[in-house]
Amino acid sequence: MTLLIKKFGGTSVGDITKIKAIAQSICQSKEAGNDIVVVVSAMGNSTDNLNKLAKLISSKPNNRELDMLLSTGEQVTIALLSMSLNDFGIPAISMTGSQVGIITESIHGKARILDIKTERIQSYLDQGYIVIVAGFQGSTLSHTGLMEITTLGRGGSDTSAVALSAALGAETCEIYTDVPGVLTTDPRIVPDAKLLDYISCEEMLELASVGASVLHPRAVEIARNYGIKLYVKSSQTLSKGTLLHSQIKPLPLKRGGLELTKTVNSLEVLENQAVLSVSNLPDRPGIAAQIFETLSAANINVDLIIQTTHDGNINDIAFTVNALELKKTIEQCKLITNQLGGEYNYKTNMTKLSIQGAGIMGRPSVSADLFDTLSQANINVRLIATSEIKVSCVIDISNIPKAIRFVGEKFKLSDSQILINPIFKKQDQPEVRGIALDKNQVQVSFRNLPDKPGVAASICLALAESNLIFDTIVQSERVTSFKTKDISFTMSKQDREQADLIFKSLTKKFPGSFVEDGPAIAKVSTVGAGMAFKVGTAGKIFRALANENINVEMIATSEIRTSCIVLEKNCDKAVKAIHSYFQLDK
Ligand code: ADP
Ligand code: ASP
Ligand code: MG
Repeated sequence: MTLLIKKFGGTSVGDITKIKAIAQSICQSKEAGNDIVVVVSAMGNSTDNLNKLAKLISSKPNNRELDMLLSTGEQVTIALLSMSLNDFGIPAISMTGSQVGIITESIHGKARILDIKTERIQSYLDQGYIVIVAGFQGSTLSHTGLMEITTLGRGGSDTSAVALSAALGAETCEIYTDVPGVLTTDPRIVPDAKLLDYISCEEMLELASVGASVLHPRAVEIARNYGIKLYVKSSQTLSKGTLLHSQIKPLPLKRGGLELTKTVNSLEVLENQAVLSVSNLPDRPGIAAQIFETLSAANINVDLIIQTTHDGNINDIAFTVNALELKKTIEQCKLITNQLGGEYNYKTNMTKLSIQGAGIMGRPSVSADLFDTLSQANINVRLIATSEIKVSCVIDISNIPKAIRFVGEKFKLSDSQILINPIFKKQDQPEVRGIALDKNQVQVSFRNLPDKPGVAASICLALAESNLIFDTIVQSERVTSFKTKDISFTMSKQDREQADLIFKSLTKKFPGSFVEDGPAIAKVSTVGAGMAFKVGTAGKIFRALANENINVEMIATSEIRTSCIVLEKNCDKAVKAIHSYFQLDK
């Protein structure tokens, strides 16, 4: 018998008719001879509605009580689905997270799964039952040793399902939802978004962590770590859906730390880099496009691109290229500044250092640890660009031996995990696979910071200590004046509300510095594994935006993703523009 784990999201169990239809499809699968564990979410918008109730009664609801409340949503669905299956004559039994023994960390609202007890589920399966498990919830032992209910974070039922697959040793996990699978972008924004037959876990992680709500990013991380075949399918129509695949060797199941596998998988060092910066550019649509199109026309492959906001109507853009391309790049920068104004500068003997790992996501302490480690080694960080699963920075080449030693030790990396000038196999992958939009972000800039080791570390450590998650950190500097620097990042709207006290103490620590909240923004992220090998992808993205007269407020890139911060009012138009520029609808 094959063990199948099937997860049905809130949109698929929104009313009684839908629950009955799902019960029927589960019956068919059972009659075909499969063992089945079903994971369900709360019906329709009921989690949102429970949240609203909490806000009506208290402006700052207690986190423990909030988990107590939100976890009831899933409990309704499991009971109803079980009743329906029993009516169809199929033995079924519902279980909450704590009845199963889904053990999590003791953090309310965003707990990670540590372990899942399988005995009780297995015993029901052996007796022929379909087991229906409440998603999104688990339980933990509090500091007093008493059982408490926890939740995993919004969208977390996907994570429950994939974690159960890993714990029960199921080969595949099927996530049923209201779309045919993973699409090139959110069909609510682009109705003719296309279904992807396959997507790599790495690409999906990047998309899911920046707004593609079709999968919870932690579910993708678990599938990748433990080699679970993960399908996303429609609960309404027959479609073969999307299969996620990964190249990495699956890990053995980590009991007691199911979701706590190593945060950092590798350290990459890329020597012989040059940093170019074009500064004092006018801040208007089309500037970034013109720069990167010019570079691409000269066949220059740009790696990191960083643009942060500045006071007034000027704009600085910094990027890295291989030192072999420096001469050619300087010629192009001359052309660019002749046309656009501003000035260019460059620095050679630079090195890019990156730590990488899906475990970085949602753990602000990791980038804080990296910057702190570098600062303890007295290494000044020149540029920073981060994505959710990678933190890159540019440092002087003379610091490299020291940096490798300190960072390698900090993250307990073996020699085989330290990659110096790695040559990646050129993959035949599209430069753009999909686009995600995250509207739940605000942009914050720290201005006038001293340019010395430890500044980025202080900011990141302070936020991480309060478990406030920040990302798309960019630090750029004007190569002409090394005296001050700006660090910008994005964070979720909720976390921003809690950050005031921390910001106050930080600006006190760095006299003269100040915090500036950006305008209402959204983050538009373009992802594709082929991007790293293709010259000119960034230029095309910026051109697509410029054609629609959309200004880019901030840019941060990793190898397989380019994120642009745009004004919130422009965000749907931005996604549409990039989608059609790359002909993803074809
Ligand atoms: P569920 O209730 O099944 O968990 P969600 O609302 O969490 O469903 O996720 C499904 C929704 O994700 C879709 O309705 C779609 O609007 C949105 N979505 C965002 N990006 C994508 C994408 N790239 N592919 C498919 N759906 C996406
Ligand atoms: N019901 C929870 C939510 O709405 C979990 C989920 O649907 O995955 O976030
Ligand atoms: Mg969901």
